[in-house]
Amino acid sequence: MLITELKANEVIRAAISGKVFVLNCHGCREIRFPEHEADAFQAELTAEGIVTGIFTTEYICNDENLSVILQPHAAAIQAADTILVFSCGVGVQTVAAMYPGKRVVAACDTYALPGFQGVTPLEHDCKQCGECYLNLTGGICPITACSKSLVNGQCGGAKNGMCEVDPSMECGWERIQKKLTALGRLDVLTKAPVQLRNYATDDLVNK
Ligand code: SF4
Ligand code: SF4
Repeated sequence: MLITELKANEVIRAAISGKVFVLNCHGCREIRFPEHEADAFQAELTAEGIVTGIFTTEYICNDENLSVILQPHAAAIQAADTILVFSCGVGVQTVAAMYPGKRVVAACDTYALPGFQGVTPLEHDCKQCGECYLNLTGGICPITACSKSLVNGQCGGAKNGMCEVDPSMECGWERIQKKLTALGRLDVLTKAPVQLRNYATDDLVNK
């Protein structure tokens, strides 16, 4: 049960590159999904001739199901440089993990609303922070993959790649650095301005 809002068009445009495959998740749209704004933006991209395909489905947070239903779209995804995902943060993380060599872009911010997320159990977690950072972090959530929810890089306490707070888990920021390095996109992080987290977006009460 997640609430999403479209990021500003210029923010999405700055994150995408080349040809684009669009993936919409309507699994939780009865809660709040910016369907009309998303449709209008996708129509703009289509008119520009950069869209290789658009697919709308439900519950992309279920990776087993998603890998099956995306099979007919393999050629369109292959032809795209960017997969642009209109979903909550869980869905974007699921797609990013499924296509580690692709640029996967979050089109939405996810806001907090108590309740379940998608179809449990889920491999990825979104704390519904209201200003999704996944476009800076290779699709790995810094809020949930880092024990301190740091948004500007690692704390320096990791030992042999493991988190100093929870030695049973891999340091989320080392994972982010490895992912961005593999994508040849470490500059996304190094050239980004310092991120100041806006805690007022943590829940809708403050909006
Ligand atoms: S950065 Fe993480 S917690 Fe924030 S909206 Fe994105 S996936 Fe959710
Ligand atoms: S060791 Fe890594 S995951 Fe753990 S708190 Fe520090 S930066 Fe975050």
